[in-house]
Amino acid sequence: MRGILGGTFDPPHIAHLVAAEAAYRQLGLDRVTFLPAGAPWQKSGRRVSAPEHRWAMTRRAVAGVEYFDADDREVRRPGWTYTIDTLEELAERVVLVLGADAARGLPTWHRAEDVLARVEVAVVPRPGVAREEVDAVLGARASWLDVPPLEVSGTRLRSMVAAGRSVRFLVPDPVWRYIDDHGLYREGR
Ligand code: ATP
Ligand code: MG
Repeated sequence: MRGILGGTFDPPHIAHLVAAEAAYRQLGLDRVTFLPAGAPWQKSGRRVSAPEHRWAMTRRAVAGVEYFDADDREVRRPGWTYTIDTLEELAERVVLVLGADAARGLPTWHRAEDVLARVEVAVVPRPGVAREEVDAVLGARASWLDVPPLEVSGTRLRSMVAAGRSVRFLVPDPVWRYIDDHGLYREGR
């Protein structure tokens, strides 16, 4: 089976790779596909980097790992991004790999029940989100991956860059170079 790791990937970082690796190994998946969202409607309150940048970084993040790939269908799709549209296009049963914060929010997604009917859910623990909070909304439908808690987030990395600090080794090297080459996040948001 194939794993899907969706996100804004603004930027992709080590916790995404660790989550995908754990899903691949612990669930015996064939591969894990990173799927950057085009216009994530749940993030409409903040500015998200241009899809071209997020796609370029995501491609760089998975390069060189033969069982990871990246899919640009959501960044190419006009309008808000809804996971259900992608799942209907894929037309195969997949494992949705979600951080605990994303898993907790799944019931608020567009057509959440249809999403749940089409996928297995694998949850990655995330600092700040109690397991019970996820179990309360997903219950037995979620299986948990064994991953050390990593207190890294796109939000934190963006503010580090804005403060002039290095994010090297918190993101894959090609992503670090891309951020620098394109002057991303320097203004802060
Ligand atoms: P932002 O702060 O911009 O929201 P993020 O670090 O949460 O960035 P996303 O692209 O929003 O990254 O997340 C993609 C997926 O990866 C989500 O399912 C999210 O829960 C998960 N994820 C991201 N960081 C972690 C982490 N440190 N631990 C566990 N899961 C994570
Ligand atoms: Mg997030």
